Amino acid sequence: MMLAETTVFVVFFGLFVIGLLAFIVAVFAMVLRVIKWTMRGLFGGGHEHPAIRRAKAARFVKGRVQCSNSGCGYLNRPEARYCGGCGRALAPARKDVDAYG
Ligand SMILES: [Zn+2]
Repeated sequence: MMLAETTVFVVFFGLFVIGLLAFIVAVFAMVLRVIKWTMRGLFGGGHEHPAIRRAKAARFVKGRVQCSNSGCGYLNRPEARYCGGCGRALAPARKDVDAYG
């Protein structure tokens, strides 16, 4: 009777400890990753991860309208109606309609 109860207790306690350890390891790994990102953001301006650099470039380009002329590709301001590079008429930006009412 006592032995069975002790075994059950030990098994449950063991599972609890294993789960707790896994949780601690996961949190620790996450914290390390966040610290690495923070360090990179603060000090690693020159050598950023290529994916981060691409994401930043995409954000810069996002609000802009690229010229549809394949030989031009000039990035115009969202409100521009004609290309600043070659003068071609730009297609109206679908996304900005709400912003201007
Ligand atoms: Zn153009």
